Parts: sequence; C-alpha cells; structure tokens
Amino acid sequence: MMIIAVALMTSGSLLAREQTVSLKATVDARKEHVTRLSNLPAGAFLSVGIEIDGRAEILLVDEDNLRLPPATRTSLFTGEVIGKLQVGVKIPASGVYYLVVDNRQGGAQRRFSLKVTGRSGATPGDKTTDGGDPAIRSRMDQQMAKFAHNLRRYFVFDDLQFRFARCGTANAFSRDDTVIICVEIASLLKELDDKAEAGDIFVFAMMHEVGHVLLQQWGYPFHGNEEVADEFATALLVLFDQPARARTTAEFFSKGSTRKELERKSKHFDRHPLSVQRARNILKWLDDSELLRRWQKVLVPHMQTRVLQAMTLSKKPWIDLPLVERELAMRSE
Ligand SMILES: [Zn+2]
Repeated sequence: MMIIAVALMTSGSLLAREQTVSLKATVDARKEHVTRLSNLPAGAFLSVGIEIDGRAEILLVDEDNLRLPPATRTSLFTGEVIGKLQVGVKIPASGVYYLVVDNRQGGAQRRFSLKVTGRSGATPGDKTTDGGDPAIRSRMDQQMAKFAHNLRRYFVFDDLQFRFARCGTANAFSRDDTVIICVEIASLLKELDDKAEAGDIFVFAMMHEVGHVLLQQWGYPFHGNEEVADEFATALLVLFDQPARARTTAEFFSKGSTRKELERKSKHFDRHPLSVQRARNILKWLDDSELLRRWQKVLVPHMQTRVLQAMTLSKKPWIDLPLVERELAMRSE
C-alpha cells in the first residue's frame, strides 16, 4: 500500500499546541489510502474531517494494526463516510498512527480531501473540539454517565464512555469502549414535535451503540453487525420494561422517506439495513415471546450477581432458571 507521510506534530515542541494538515487525494476502487500521522503525543486530540465524492470507510489505527489483515484490525476509530464526516479522537499513547480511507468495497475511484488537526495537551472538552453549548453538553455528559451507571446495575463490563462530537451527519458511532454521539442528532431530534418520541429514539440509538460496545467486550462474534445491535437494543428495552421506546423507534423508522433512502443507497454501497426493514425487524422482535429467552444466553454470564439472584425469585416466563442457577453456582465456587 502507498502511504503518504505527514508529520502532524513535532516531538517536544510544546509551543505548537495545534497543527493542521490538509491534503487532497484519490483512492482507487478495491484499494486503501493510508496517511501516516507521526509524533502524536499521548493525550493529543485529533480532529479529522473528510469530504469524499461517494462512500468509504475511514479508520485510525496504530502501526501494529496497520500490518494486520483489514478484518482483524482494532482501530481507535472506525466509521462510514458518505459525502462528509467529522470526528474527534483522543490519542491513547504517543506514537505513529495511520488514517486509512478504505475503498475496498467501492466500485469506483474516489476523490477526497482530508483535514486533520492535532492538539497537544488536549482539552477535548472545549467548545471548538466538540461543538455545542458547553452548558447543555455538561448536562448531557451527566445524563450519559447516569445511563452507563444504570446499565452497570444490571451488567458487568469494563468501560463505557460517551463522547459528543460534531460529525457532519446525524448519527452515532462506537469504537472500543466509547460511543460517539454526533451533536447533529440533537438537531435532528429537535425537529420532532413530540419530545417524548425524540427521547425514545435517542435511548434506542444509545442502546444500539452500547450493543456494539458490550458485545465486543463480551467476545460476541457478531458485535459489529447492525441487525444484531438493533436486536440487542430491543431485547434490553424489553428487559428494562421499556418496550414502548423500541416501538416508537420502529414507527419513526417506518415513517422515514424510503424513496430518498433507496436513491442514496443505490448510489453508494451501504451495509445498514433500510429503515423500513429495521422497523419491521424491531416490531417482529417485540412480538417474539422467545426474544429474551434467546438473549439471556448471551446476557446471563455478564449480569450482576444480585440481578441473577432476583431472577431466581421472579416468575417471568422467559427466565431459564437452570441457566441462571448454573451461573450463580459457578460464581459462588
Ligand atoms: Zn450500528
């Protein structure tokens, strides 16, 4: 592969708190374009903006992962860009990183422009990196911390962070232990008159992303699959006695402009199922009396012990008592 090298930050130059590089390039069909970003200090905050005349995957990897076969790489960030994307990533350890524009699925050459800004001694909480009103964001941060805290009352997991970023698209992403919530989602949801509806859709979207993160942590092989994440979100909302949130989301999806979506998808390869299909799936899962019975095989090994104990006393028909008791017995040994 061809690598374009960019010295984004020169080591030791404490005065150079912020540096930006811009480049224009093309990436052939079935190929990757790699930009090397050298001398990135630990804690630096990297803001990546890309504009492309079509669709590609974009990922940020370290040196070791760049050499691995693409399917086995672990990246600091991975996301789909259609047209435009802006993301922010915090660099965990000093070193060289590679920004990959992955057009291996693409049928045509793509032209793109890239703008990467690095800030040392990062203050990723400041307004310029994340966008949005700091007061609102701090309230959102608190709410997301509470969301993670509530999840932890049910489940055992390593880490779960929520970050807000300006992405150029109303979406949410996940990478490793972090869910990245695009602030544009807020403006999309603001357009809905019904605030309760907007809240339901937001919670479903968060559960979907949490599904990617937790299923990866738990070693579930299909953690990256979009339908699996939707089914996880539906199952958890049923488990938490909030199935109405999933139903509202299904209604929102089915109302979406299908024709517009089809037009967009015919132009660009897209791995996400159509909204109408997602709506149909969610409604099907909600009606499926086996949903939680199926998912408990995945969930039970990661449930808090006191939740399992409560399950042994519950009369809910989906609970697989022998499974729960086996798990409890294993823990008391
Ligand atoms: Zn997803």
